[in-house]
Amino acid sequence: MKGVVFNILEEMVVEGYGMAVWNDILDEAQNSTGIFIAFESYPDEKLFELVGIICKKLDQPAEVIVEAFGQYLFGGLSKRHSHFDEAHDSLDSFLKSIHDVIHVEVAKLYNDPNLPAIECMDNPDGTMTLRYRSPRKLCLLAEGLIRGAATKFEQGIKLKHDVCMHKDSDFCDLVIEYTS
Ligand code: ZN
Repeated sequence: MKGVVFNILEEMVVEGYGMAVWNDILDEAQNSTGIFIAFESYPDEKLFELVGIICKKLDQPAEVIVEAFGQYLFGGLSKRHSHFDEAHDSLDSFLKSIHDVIHVEVAKLYNDPNLPAIECMDNPDGTMTLRYRSPRKLCLLAEGLIRGAATKFEQGIKLKHDVCMHKDSDFCDLVIEYTS
C-alpha cells in the first residue's frame, strides 16, 4: 500500500482524536517510525495492523473503521489530485472514469500501485453496478470511497453489496442507485 494511504490515515486520526492518540497507535505497532513517504510502498500488513489498533482504541469493528476511512481517503486523495474529480460534473461520469483514466494516471504517478480492477455497467433499472476485483478484498474501503465521492458530487446514493468476495464470489458488485 502506498505511503499516501498511511498519510491520510494519520490525518483522519489526528483530526478526529489528536496527535497523542496517533502517537499511541504508533507506539503499539511493531517497528513503526510513523514516517511514510507518499510515493513509497509499504506492506499491506502494516496498514491492517494500524487499523486493528485503531479499532481496539476506538472500540469499533473493523468494517466500521475501514468504511469510514474509505470516505476520508476519498477527501484526502481528492485534495492531492483534484484534477481527477474536477474533470467531471457527475458522480456517474467520475466513477466510470476510474478504471480507464484515473487508475492509468495513478499508475504513472505512483510506481506499481497495485490497484483493484474496476468495471462499471449500467443496469436497465437505472442503477449502476461497479464491479470490484482485488486480491486484497478491500471492498468496504471501496464502498467508503464511493460514499466519499458521492458527498463531493452532492449526489445521494443507495448502495447494495450482495455479491461479495467475502461471500464466495470472485468479485464484488457494488450496485449504486442515484437517489437525488
Ligand atoms: Zn465485497
